[in-house]
Amino acid sequence: MLFTEMGLSPDILKGIEALNFEKPTPIQEKVIPVLKKNMCDIIGIAQTGTGKTAAFGLPAIEAINIANKQPQLLILSPTRELCIQIANDLENYGRYVNGLRITSVYGGASMENQIKSLKQGVHVVVATPGRIHDLIRRRKVNLSGISTLVLDEADEMLNMGFREDVDAILSQTPENKTTLLFSATMEPGVAAIARNYMREPSEITAGKKNESTANVSHVYHMVHARDRYNTLKRVLDFHPGIYGIVFCRTRQETKDVSAKLVRDGYNAEALHGDLSQPQRDHIMQKFRSAALNVLVATDVAARGLDVDSLTHVINYNLPDDTGVYTHRSGRTGRAGKEGMSVSIINLKERGRITQIERSIRKKFEHRPVPGGTDICERQLFSMLERMQNSNVVHNRIDPYMDKVYGMLEDLSKEEIVKRFVSLEFNRFLEYYRNAPDLNVEMKKRRKSNAEGTEQKSNGGSMARIVFNIGKGKNITRRDIIDMLVKAPGARNAEIGKIEIYRRASSVEVENRVVKNVLGELNRTIYRGIRVEAEENRNFRGNDFRDRHKGPRGIKRKAS
Ligand code: ADP
Ligand code: MG
Repeated sequence: MLFTEMGLSPDILKGIEALNFEKPTPIQEKVIPVLKKNMCDIIGIAQTGTGKTAAFGLPAIEAINIANKQPQLLILSPTRELCIQIANDLENYGRYVNGLRITSVYGGASMENQIKSLKQGVHVVVATPGRIHDLIRRRKVNLSGISTLVLDEADEMLNMGFREDVDAILSQTPENKTTLLFSATMEPGVAAIARNYMREPSEITAGKKNESTANVSHVYHMVHARDRYNTLKRVLDFHPGIYGIVFCRTRQETKDVSAKLVRDGYNAEALHGDLSQPQRDHIMQKFRSAALNVLVATDVAARGLDVDSLTHVINYNLPDDTGVYTHRSGRTGRAGKEGMSVSIINLKERGRITQIERSIRKKFEHRPVPGGTDICERQLFSMLERMQNSNVVHNRIDPYMDKVYGMLEDLSKEEIVKRFVSLEFNRFLEYYRNAPDLNVEMKKRRKSNAEGTEQKSNGGSMARIVFNIGKGKNITRRDIIDMLVKAPGARNAEIGKIEIYRRASSVEVENRVVKNVLGELNRTIYRGIRVEAEENRNFRGNDFRDRHKGPRGIKRKAS
């Protein structure tokens, strides 16, 4: 199908042409004709990077009555980067639609200016839930004329704890509007939103749900938690020419990892929520233009980044959520290119791999962490390849050659080659001279499981902290991490698995900080919330079993 066969108006078609979109993507092909016929409620599920913005954006723009200068299309999106990106995309689609006005409102920027632009009269508002909720409370935005509401990246909005804001915003919009929900994954929270807010929505899926891109291979390395960073370095060294994102769990972790990488001579930077907007823009710009080849980021920070040619995605930590894994790995292997998603896991996380495999319907390959010899070989070949492919600009270099030959006269060809290679290569040879094997044996794992001493084989380094509140009180992973990192010493500590059940939740942290964390939490958090550490040996076995059964409550041995 072509864009011209979808019933779109000439103005919009002109905009698409200017963007050089040749033909619609699968989700666009399925969604646009339906909405052009009738603006009905739709749930659209398609992977990241498949063109969802135009799928809802083109028909939604056409449904606008330009003469009526009040907001008619409201798009909610989880981050300011995405808001900006969506607003920008819509501007492009509607470039030839006379009089169309679009604005975006999001946190972390002056509210004054946003209010001003709203006052000038706009047709489309692209917003983060937090900021527009705020504007509604201040009566600075009127949503009574909204005819189309879009929940973009609905799964992520829920993950970020925007549930209450979304509820409040929706209650301010007219009953008889069209609601469109877009998401890369269809998880229970998303289904619940659909149930609560949508009227007989049709579900449109392009590609299988939660299925990862066909040309991404999924690889994991299993190491001790303490070897995570060194494993990351090996992965980077083993892939000369890598252009990828390293995903971390917390802001602090992105900072730590990127600082270490820079110290160790890599071209890396961190992207996280503590940066100012200009700083973020600057880093993203550098990464987009490939002036930076490794970006260390949290999921949220990396959301707004649209880069097509990533060679690798590295999971420095596995996400708790399978949908997040799909998002991450979907950032590589785009535009017909091969991509690889590499996960660095510790012993305890093997079960998560099985879970993810089931969900994305793809097998992971367990690959050994590259050893020193492998890496040196790779680096060497890559260097020779670069040499073979290098441009020789004869007229520029020729004038120097006589002198060069003169200086090298006494060396044989073999000797010259060896020295040039060493020059580039000694760094790796030296670093990896006595490099230890970082792999954790599978055999050991099975044995220790049987004996219930898996924790010990991990150096007994992690402990679990349990809270007596959970989903029932709307606690989110983010809340837990936020609480944890406030404790002295905990900022740099490794955070393990986080589990949230109905009436309890738990988080694993390094043993060495448990005392501090407990002290801090019990001192600062609300009365009535109880926090306690659980004995290692009590939870190991349960944890493992629970995971396979799909846990619904923390089982604890009566003590
Ligand atoms: P999603 O929201 O599904 O993650 P986006 O809507 O952000 O994806 O689109 C991803 C990229 O693909 C953007 O750069 C967009 O301009 C581009 N794109 C969208 N539709 C098409 C199309 N039909 N042809 C070519 N490129 C497209
Ligand atoms: Mg999108």
